[in-house]
This record gives sequence, C-alpha cells and structure tokens, in this order.
Amino acid sequence: MIALLLFLQIAATQPALIVRDGPAQTMVGVTATGGDRMVRADALMSAMGGALVNGPNQRFTLVLSRGRLELIDGIPFARLDTTMIPLSRPPLVRGGFLYLPYQVVSETIPRYGGGYFYDRASRELRTFTTVARRTPQAAPAARPTATPAPVRQPPPRPPEKHVVVIDAGHGGRDPGMSGPIGSSPWFVEKEVVLDVAKKLAAELRRKGLEVVMTREKDTLIALSDRGHIANRSKGDVFVSLHVNAPGRSNAAGARERGFETYFLAEAKTADARRVEEMENEAVKFETGADAPKGDPLSFIITDMAQNEHLRESSELAQTIQLGLIDVHPGPNRGVNQANFAVLRGSYMPAVLIEMGFGTNRSEATFLSDAANQTRLAKQIAESLIAYLERYESRIGGAR
Ligand SMILES: [Zn+2]
Repeated sequence: MIALLLFLQIAATQPALIVRDGPAQTMVGVTATGGDRMVRADALMSAMGGALVNGPNQRFTLVLSRGRLELIDGIPFARLDTTMIPLSRPPLVRGGFLYLPYQVVSETIPRYGGGYFYDRASRELRTFTTVARRTPQAAPAARPTATPAPVRQPPPRPPEKHVVVIDAGHGGRDPGMSGPIGSSPWFVEKEVVLDVAKKLAAELRRKGLEVVMTREKDTLIALSDRGHIANRSKGDVFVSLHVNAPGRSNAAGARERGFETYFLAEAKTADARRVEEMENEAVKFETGADAPKGDPLSFIITDMAQNEHLRESSELAQTIQLGLIDVHPGPNRGVNQANFAVLRGSYMPAVLIEMGFGTNRSEATFLSDAANQTRLAKQIAESLIAYLERYESRIGGAR
C-alpha cells in the first residue's frame, strides 16, 4: 500500500503528455517510478479515441484506429498481430489501472499504431493529419560529411539452418513428478514431456529447422550431459520441457495450476527456488559414469558463457510464455529465473518450460491429451521461430 501511495504521489510531478488531433488536444497525466515515466492506458486511450480492453490473465488490448496492441502485466513485450515488440519496461497494473511505459507513447504507437507522430520537444502525440496541417519547416542544414567510406557489400550469407535442441526432462530411472494428487498416479512427467518433445521436433522439422533431442526414448541422461549434447550439436537454442508439482501434496497443492517459463539465473522467489530444487533433484539418479565432474574452473567458464546469453534467454522465455497464453487453459504464472543444472552447461539461449501441474486433475488431463500436446508443441515451435528470426535480424543489423 505504501508503494502504491508513493507511486501516486510522484505521479503529480511529471509534465503531462498532450494528445493532439487537429484542433482538439487532451492532457494525459504522466507518472514516474524510479525515474521511469509511465502513462495510464485508459486515459491515453480515451484521449486518442481508442479503447482499452481488459482480457483474462492480466492481458490487455489497446484498440487504435488502425491496429491493436496486446500487452500483459509484467511482461516487457507488446504484440501486434504476430509481431513481438520489445519494451524497455513491462506494463504494470497498479491500484487497478494499467500503466504503460512512456516508450509506448514515444516509440511503439508512432511506429506501429499507424498514423501517429510523437514530438519529443513538445511532448505531443499527434495524428498524421495534424502533422500535415502544420507549416512545413525548413529542412535542417546538412552537416558536413566526412569522406564517404567505399561501400563494401558484405558477401551474401548462405541461408542458415537453425538448430533447436529439445530436452525432454527426466527419463529412465528418474520419472520426474507423478500425479494427480488424490488419485492413484497415472500421470508421469517423463512420459508426457517426451510426447510433447517429439511433437515439437516434428513441427520444427516440418518448418525446415534442424532438431537435436537429448533423448528420444525412456533413458536417463545426466543433467550436465544434456547441456553438452546441446553444445556438441552447435544448437542455437535449448528448450527443456517439464511438468510442475507444488511444494505440498495436500488439497491446496492439488489446486495449483498454470504454466511458466524459466531462464537460467539466480532464483528470485521462493517458488522459483522450489522448482529449481525439484528439477535439480534428478542429479541423485546419476551415479558413477554419468555423475558430473566438479571442475571449478569449467564451472566458472560455463558461468561466464551463460551470462552473455542471459538477455537472450530472458527474451526467448518471454516469447514462449506469451505464446502459451493462447493455447493453455491454466493461469499464466509468468517468466521466472532459477539456477537449473540442466541449463547451466549450454552455451546458447536456454529456457525451461513447466507446461502445467501434473498434480492437478484438470491439467494432468489436458497435458495427457494428444491433440492438446500438438497444440502446445505448435505454439512453442512458432515462438521459437519468431525468436530466431528476431535474433537473426539483430545480428544482421549489428554487422
Ligand atoms: Zn521436471
């Protein structure tokens, strides 16, 4: 509550945004937390003559005259049709209102909304008709240019075949979780994740990607080896599939539902630590030859390599999580970070998906259904491809 009061107090001190449409102009309040300016979505939409639609799962749609931007509380992306637009900060719900990062006003709407222009100097968001009515200004004097460098076209790159490493969690003498709570267990994690992994592999291959699977049958692969397999195969991304179980197997635990996507970092919440411990448990099944070697130097090197992929992994996780909202009936538990042994050894963007709770009767039923597994696999494949395309265009832009 104190945080909310502070949030609202600081609000008053920021200069307002002006939304101008022809002669009509409307002021929209700008708030700030920790130096980040935000605007209330409902006020912005009413000033722009658009609409804010509240959907399920903290999902919101900004309806503009020429497009719809979809946003989710706490997730730093906006979606326009199938295009994912990264945001500098996530939109946030505070006191029952959706607050948008100012970037949505200054960049996202002008670039993607169709027909809007943002003037930084006057803090005005204008419709294009307004811009056209203004007296055209003289073009700024051209700056003296340095001797132009000879234009050298980079040699055309051969089309790359992306490699996705799919890791079906557990296997062999490590069954993973089983459920549901309150009945004799018929749901076994290692089986369901392998089913989804195979469907995901088929879908990606159909789309022309290369796939490497850490296991294709009911075998136990050491956690550290899963990363090594990924590295050996020169994977572009690593996806580990799992099914969740709550901390306690009581009635409250049986009600836990929803899907979440993790990337490798220090666990931030108690819940993330619980999932981390649960998924790292598999180490106890690894004995003798498949036990990881405790070489401290290799661990430090692994740690450094992984850090470079932190941002990429986080973005990949966001993309997958956002996609799953469309096909998963359970609540969106968001993107989390935890220190998973399975993700530690992979030198590439790596995520772990908890596809739902096998301890919950309805989610166990949902996840066991072949048609639902296909739906999940197709959605994950789509997100992976969208991510890889974006990644490639970024790499291309940096050259
Ligand atoms: Zn698992």
